[in-house]
Amino acid sequence: MFNLILFGPPGSGKGTQSEKLIDKYGLMHLSTGNLLREEIVNQTKLGLEAKRFMDNGQLVPDSVVIGMIRSAIEHNPASKGFLFDGFPRTVAQAEALDELLAEKQAEINAFLALEVSREELIGRLLNRGKTSGRSDDVNEDIISARIQEYENKTAPVAGYYEQFDKGVRVKGEGDIDQIFDSLCREIDAKMLV
Ligand code: AMP
Repeated sequence: MFNLILFGPPGSGKGTQSEKLIDKYGLMHLSTGNLLREEIVNQTKLGLEAKRFMDNGQLVPDSVVIGMIRSAIEHNPASKGFLFDGFPRTVAQAEALDELLAEKQAEINAFLALEVSREELIGRLLNRGKTSGRSDDVNEDIISARIQEYENKTAPVAGYYEQFDKGVRVKGEGDIDQIFDSLCREIDAKMLV
């Protein structure tokens, strides 16, 4: 199994690059944001609970997202590996993920962090809001709250993986294909380890 985390603030291009990476490497895409939006569309109890946080740009409680990821991993035992996008977003989620993978005799093989400036993020998210249909991309206050949550609770996750020498930072600004090539170079190097 090869398990990869694509990390970065909201608007750093995780979704776009994930689509290209799963095609190339045959990994299963697990985006907690997408899974939560599906729960909302299906009007489940979990979706209704999560929506209150998402509408305010706040993180959904750890127990909710960890449960979703546990179930996704358990329902896909034959997967070659997973690409985690938007998860883990707290150190507690990262620790829980390590435990879930250890139960399958697996681990995180690469942690790639996309780096994008704050001004560029806000511009990209507002632009995406014109077409994404996501209410949390339209309002600048909610966008700022999401970036604040990232800085307070999510950025420390990079330090968690760096302590195990798994973290690599990749410039997330510029041409999409060039960023993709940089990510692939790092992944290929980790696959040889
Ligand atoms: P995303 O699509 O990754 O930008 O996520 C959209 C929203 O879903 C976030 O602003 C959070 O409210 C929630 N969310 C997604 N993933 C997580 C996670 N791993 N932990 C907590 N909240 C999450």
